Amino acid sequence: MIDSLKTFRALVENSSDAISLVTIAGEVLYASASAAKVLGYQPEELLGMNSLDLLHPEDRDRSVRTLKKLAAQPQSSNRTQGRIRQKDGRWLWVECSASNLLDVPEVGAIVLNYRDISSRKAVEEERQRLAEELARCNAELQAFAHTVAHDLREPVRTISAFTQLLARKARLPDAEKEIAQFIVDGARRMSNLLDDLLSSATGGHKDSLGPVELAHVAAQAIQNLTEALTVSGAAIKIGPLPRVQGRECDLVRLFQNLIGNAVKYRSPAPIVVHVTAERSGPDWMIRIRDNGIGIAKHHHLRVFGLFTRLHSEEIPGTGIGLAVCKEVVEGLGGTIWVESEPGAGSTFCFTLAAAQEESGMRAISSAGDANGIRLPGPVSSAVSTAAI
Ligand code: ADP
Repeated sequence: MIDSLKTFRALVENSSDAISLVTIAGEVLYASASAAKVLGYQPEELLGMNSLDLLHPEDRDRSVRTLKKLAAQPQSSNRTQGRIRQKDGRWLWVECSASNLLDVPEVGAIVLNYRDISSRKAVEEERQRLAEELARCNAELQAFAHTVAHDLREPVRTISAFTQLLARKARLPDAEKEIAQFIVDGARRMSNLLDDLLSSATGGHKDSLGPVELAHVAAQAIQNLTEALTVSGAAIKIGPLPRVQGRECDLVRLFQNLIGNAVKYRSPAPIVVHVTAERSGPDWMIRIRDNGIGIAKHHHLRVFGLFTRLHSEEIPGTGIGLAVCKEVVEGLGGTIWVESEPGAGSTFCFTLAAAQEESGMRAISSAGDANGIRLPGPVSSAVSTAAI
């Protein structure tokens, strides 16, 4: 027959967790050898001490409240974290679980069970410091990119304008005209790059978050893409779209970049782009599917990196568009990814939180529908509300 009292005593004495019994007022009635070791005392030195006196001043009020709450509910327990002073004066982070066993005759005390978590806390603090440092560096980098892009735009435009003027006025021979055209093309590419960089560095974040009608967002994005859609003859099929939580200007940029890419990275087939939405828990999942050239699996993550391009100048671009999409979606707490295979088109999927006080889904139609959404004239024939 096992002597249960002896067994429990041995368990407590050998536990790696520190265990003490205290009164409602915090006075120590018993401290295990490990409790004394954690704090740097002999067990008998702790007897009679008030455990609240060992707490860090910033943690004391909270601990007193916790103790009172615990004392009011027999058999209840709770868990807290706080700093406790060791005998040599150093502060130690501990995680403490307290149980009210005041009404258990064999115990008649509050049982404190605590363990040293200083190394975990040190890692958490370091992680927090690094996250703050990263946020500061990102903000500085963004401000720098903004200044550079802004200040370089003007000289680049001047180069382009005056080269064109020179080519016209100087009546250059064909070979020199071609050289002038190279300069103008290069300046145009740099100007596009700076525009994209500027819009990426400007970021959204100026307006506050609110419910946004994605059907309006899609209509605006399509309007901004009028020229590319008209020239390519792309058919954009838009299913019913919901209201989400976001900032309209950022979401327009997101849709514009994705629909713009669907048109830009086309296959020889007539371009068809489907935009659909599907509820996924508290979020909406939006899909923008094209029938373009597709993307190999090993590039699926890479394409969202800043300045990452899978194409050379045969298809112009800056490698900023998808990085901006990622920033917009993740900035709103969502996720973005691509599903694609070369030759089989691409589907860009992203999640956005449903709008608070949601009022169902709305669709856009080519004629501007009952929801009052008007599409731009030249592209409206290519855009349809489809039962997708
Ligand atoms: P950009 O279009 O300016 O190059 P993005 O960041 O928008 O930059 O896209 C990065 C790369 O991802 C593109 O260069 C292209 O190779 C690939 N990509 C993006 N969208 C598509 C798409 N819909 N179909 C195929 N490839 C795409």
